Amino acid sequence: MPIDPVLIVHGGAWAIPDDMVEAHLAGVRNAIAGGWRVLSRGGCALDAVEEAVIVMEDDETFDAGRGSFLNREGKVQLDALIMDGATLAAGGVGCVEHLRNPVRAARKILSDSPHVYFVAEGAEKFAAQHGIPLCKNEDLIIPREVERLRVFQAQAPAEKPNLFAPAISHDTVGAVALDQYGNIAAATSTGGTLNKAPGRLGDSSLIGCGCYADNKTAAASTTGWGEPIMKLVLAKWAADRVAAGNLPEWVAAEAINYLQARVSGHGGIILLDARGRFGIAHNTPRMAWAVKHPNEESCGITR
Ligand code: ASP
Repeated sequence: MPIDPVLIVHGGAWAIPDDMVEAHLAGVRNAIAGGWRVLSRGGCALDAVEEAVIVMEDDETFDAGRGSFLNREGKVQLDALIMDGATLAAGGVGCVEHLRNPVRAARKILSDSPHVYFVAEGAEKFAAQHGIPLCKNEDLIIPREVERLRVFQAQAPAEKPNLFAPAISHDTVGAVALDQYGNIAAATSTGGTLNKAPGRLGDSSLIGCGCYADNKTAAASTTGWGEPIMKLVLAKWAADRVAAGNLPEWVAAEAINYLQARVSGHGGIILLDARGRFGIAHNTPRMAWAVKHPNEESCGITR
């Protein structure tokens, strides 16, 4: 008998200002609608998380795809990972500059390559060879982000905000899903952090850090200051605690407490097991999230 699907998405953990709340809520609701179309037609969790993330990569509200933060050289550089909990197959891309939807390339790597991870030109070459069109880097840049970088770079070092404080924008996107066949999957996509050094890779596209999925443990997507998250391999840390018998709701909160206590990190996590139990937690002032089951849909900016 088919089991009830579940889809959860996040649109980044930070102090979303009041005038951006509606755009974030609309963005996560649209992502749920896109992913749910897949699940409600009997599609698999992997397709659902890919679709949900594509919707958010296409939405300039978020730090993913077009509209992402710019690096120190004024370029968009994107990272993404997708993982299948049924098989542990995964695909990741890092530091790509010419892909509108890096999660699509990650998915192609998962399904068509013996490798798991491609970076920079190699990732773009793989994508192009597998039918994914490349774009110009300028196509990914929007005026809001040009201005944000200009203001940041114009500040004297002493005036610069701490980019890793909880109030600073972390608009990475992610999704976890359970399908009617009992399989879970996760995907995460990001433009990384403002003014990052070229070639800097965050946690988002690293297996077990920003994203993880295993039917036997849990599916997770994280957001926030990437360096602390990757030091703790936080998504895998959380999944292992679910496997040890703890409730995802409790583990999500524990993971964020651990992030703060151990490495002074700030961020958020969505976590889902193959029984449909889930947790959502963040220690930033806000995090855009949305959840859907067959009979219920909810979203918010705090949890
Ligand atoms: N974790 C991402 C990074 O450090 C940023 C974010 O979540 O917004 O690249």
